[in-house]
Amino acid sequence: MNKILIVEDEMAIRDLIKIGLESHGYQCECASDGELAADFLEQKNYDLILLDIMLPKVDGYELLEYIKQTLEITPVIFITAKSQTKDKIKGLNLGADDYITKPFEMGELIARVEAVLRRFHKTSEKIEIGDITIHVVARTVKKREEKIDLTPKEFDLLLLLVQNKNMALYREVIFEKVWGEELEFETRTLDLHIQRLRKKLNWKDKIKTVYRIGYMLEV
Ligand code: CA
Repeated sequence: MNKILIVEDEMAIRDLIKIGLESHGYQCECASDGELAADFLEQKNYDLILLDIMLPKVDGYELLEYIKQTLEITPVIFITAKSQTKDKIKGLNLGADDYITKPFEMGELIARVEAVLRRFHKTSEKIEIGDITIHVVARTVKKREEKIDLTPKEFDLLLLLVQNKNMALYREVIFEKVWGEELEFETRTLDLHIQRLRKKLNWKDKIKTVYRIGYMLEV
């Protein structure tokens, strides 16, 4: 599980980010100022730092300077209320990997977090759920030691459900993520793939139909 440090002095935003990330399976710790963040970073390793720029005691820029040597292994996305280009450039020049401007949507933040973690190869290549093991890069699935043959779309669908486990996903969203622009939204196509996935994995009770919404992997 990826561990993320959230450095943000505004409690409402900090809590929002924490809840959002935790619901996507990330483990989070929070620091309300730069000094506290520096203490945390001395004691622990994180997979990613979300860093606000305007902070009490030690601001985001100073903290970036301070943690320079850890930036090789720990990516930083800074959060800024400022939309001026020069602030973004300054942060990126100091070694941040990406930035997000307040106010932002949770979906955007999650996407940026995922992209940066991927770039740093922090995402797990192997996911285990019950007796199912998914090798993300090799795109293979095993039940205990037995290989399960999935079509590419079945695999994508499985990965989407697994990465969003215990969250109800809208049919339209699932369809768009798995089939993208290739096809017009087609309920039957999605339902058929879900049925086959349930059967192949013996996950009839795990992949739930969520009334009027779509599907959810419950684990
Ligand atoms: Ca702030």
